[in-house]
Amino acid sequence: MEKGLIPEDVINRIRERADIVDIVGAHLSLTKAGQNFKGLCPFHQEKTPSFTVSPSRQTFHCFGCGEGGNVFSFLMKIDGSTFPAVVRALGEKVGVPVEDRPVSPAVRQRMELRERLLALTKVAAERFHLNLLADAEAEPARNYLASRGMTPDTIERFDIGYSQSGWDGTLTALTKAGFSAEDIAAAGLAIPREQAAGFYDRFRGRVMFPIRDLQKQVIGFGGRMLDDGTPKYLNSPETPLFSKGRILYALDAARDAITRLGYVIVVEGYFDAIALHQAGCANAVATLGTALTPEHLELIRRFTQRVVLLFDPDAAGVRAALRTMDLFLGSGFSVQVGSVPAGDDPDTFIRSQGPDAFAALIKSAPSLLEFTVQASLTAGRAGTVEDRVRCVEDVLTLLQKLSNPVEQSAAIRHVADQLGMDEKALLARYKALPRKSVKASTPQPSAGVFENQPLPKDEEVLLQLLVHEVLTPEMWTEVRAEDFTDTRAKRLVSLVCAADAPHTRQQALAQAGEDELCGSITRALSMTELPYDNINAAFQQSLKALKLRRIAVELQEIKAAEALATKAGRDEEARTLLVRLNVLQQERQKLSKINPSSYNEAGRIHA
Ligand SMILES: [Zn+2]
Repeated sequence: MEKGLIPEDVINRIRERADIVDIVGAHLSLTKAGQNFKGLCPFHQEKTPSFTVSPSRQTFHCFGCGEGGNVFSFLMKIDGSTFPAVVRALGEKVGVPVEDRPVSPAVRQRMELRERLLALTKVAAERFHLNLLADAEAEPARNYLASRGMTPDTIERFDIGYSQSGWDGTLTALTKAGFSAEDIAAAGLAIPREQAAGFYDRFRGRVMFPIRDLQKQVIGFGGRMLDDGTPKYLNSPETPLFSKGRILYALDAARDAITRLGYVIVVEGYFDAIALHQAGCANAVATLGTALTPEHLELIRRFTQRVVLLFDPDAAGVRAALRTMDLFLGSGFSVQVGSVPAGDDPDTFIRSQGPDAFAALIKSAPSLLEFTVQASLTAGRAGTVEDRVRCVEDVLTLLQKLSNPVEQSAAIRHVADQLGMDEKALLARYKALPRKSVKASTPQPSAGVFENQPLPKDEEVLLQLLVHEVLTPEMWTEVRAEDFTDTRAKRLVSLVCAADAPHTRQQALAQAGEDELCGSITRALSMTELPYDNINAAFQQSLKALKLRRIAVELQEIKAAEALATKAGRDEEARTLLVRLNVLQQERQKLSKINPSSYNEAGRIHA
C-alpha cells in the first residue's frame, strides 16, 4: 500500500547497491558454505545452521522454518519495520536517498496530524505514569497493582499509569504542554461536552495501560476502573493512530521472544499478558476486548505461524475459541487452545501454580479443531436427544473443514467413539451433509512446509532444473503447469512459464521467490546445489514420470465416468469417454517407450 510512494527505480537501485551478505551479517554470524553462506536462523530456535544466504541471488532462506526473501524482507522481519521505513533506512546506508514524492495536501495533512497525535500520546503516557508513581490520589491504584502481583519493574517496563479522577486533569496537563483540545480529542483522550462548549477527560480514575505499536510508539490506551464503576475496561476509541482490530497489546515487548520460541500466546486482557511476561513467558500478547481479526493474523504472521490461544474456561471463553475457527481455517497457522482450570485466569493461574505448571498446560493444549469438537461433544453428551443430534450435525460440519481425508476419517471415528454411535452410520450422515462452501483456494502455509510436505520426486527434480535455469528452449516448451499435482509446483511453473524470454523469466523467478504460495519451495530449491551431471536425462525421466502419473489419474477418472454413463444408458457420452480413454492409453504407451534407463542412474551424481 505504502510501497507506491517510493519510485520503483529507487527501490531497485537500493537493492542493487546493498549486499545481502553484509546486511544479514550485521545481525548474525555467517560462514561460507559452497556458493552460499550459512548461519543460525534468527527467526526460529536452532542448534545447527539452516539459515542460508545466497549472494548470487541476493536472497535468504531458512531450511528450518521456511522464512525467506530478499534484503528488504529480511530487514522488515528482523526490525518489525514497514517496507517504506526499511527502504528509506537502507537507502541512506548505501547512498541512495529516498526523496518523498510530492503528496496531495490531504495526505500531507493526515501525516502531520498523525505526527502531532503521536507526540501527544507520548506526553500523555509519561504524565499518567508519573501520576501513578507520585500522585497521592493514585494510592489505591498502587495498592491494586501490588495486590495483583505487579512488581515495580513490570510497572516500569509496561509504563503503567494512572488517570486522575477529575474531569479535566489530562486536558489541562496536555494543553499546558502545548496541545490543542481538538487534537487531544482526536487522540481519544477527551470527549466534547454535550450541553456546553469544551471537552472533558475520557479516562478518569483508571489504571492506564499505554498501547504501543511495533515501533514502540504509544498509539492508544486501555484503562481499568478501580472501584465498581463501569465500564470496567475502557479502550481508546478508533483514532487516526489506533484501531483495536489491528493491534495486539504487548506485541512490541513480545516479538523477540515469539521469533525465538517459535510461537505466540494470545490472551484476552492486559493483566494476563503482563502477568505472563512477568513470569517469564515473554511471548504473550493480548487482544483488546475483541475477537481475533484477519488483520491480527497478518500481524502475527510476521513473526510466527504457531498460535496458542488462552481463553477463560467459562462459556464465553469457549465461544470465543469457536469463533476463531473460521478465521484460522486455511490460514496456514497451527493453532492450539489452552484452558486454565475453572475459577482461574491465566494471571491467577501462573501466579499460584508457577511457570512450570503453565508450560505443561501449553504443551498439552489440544489443537483448535480437537478443542472445538470436544466442546461440542461435551455439550451434546450433557443434553437431550435433540441436543445430541444438533451436536452431531455441528461436529460433522466442522469436520468438513478438514482438508485432509485421513484426518477426517480419524476424527469421525473419534466422534463416533465419544458419542457411542456407530461409525458407519455417522459416516453415512457425514456424506449426506450439504457441502458447505469451504474456501476453495486454501493458501498453503508460507513457512516451514517443504520438509513437512515433500514434493513428489519427479516434480522436485523438474522444479530444481527450472529454478536453476538450466533448461533449453525446447525443454521449456514441454513443461506445463497442469501436469504437476502439487499446488505449490503448479503455481511456480505457471508463474515462470508465463515469461517467455530469459530476462523476464529471471524476474518471474524473483517474483516466485516472494510468492506466498510457492516462495518457500522456490527459495529452497534454488539454494540447493544441482545434483545432476546429465541434465537431459534427469529432465526426460522426471517429465516422463510426471506425465505418466497425470495420465494414470485421468484414466482412472475416465474409467469411472464411463462405467457410470454406460450403466445409466448414456451411450453417446460413454462413447466419447472411450475415445478419450483410447487416446490416453496410446499416449501412455508412447511415453513408456521413451528412454527406458532410469534417471537415478543416468542423472544423479549422488543419490
Ligand atoms: Zn528459521
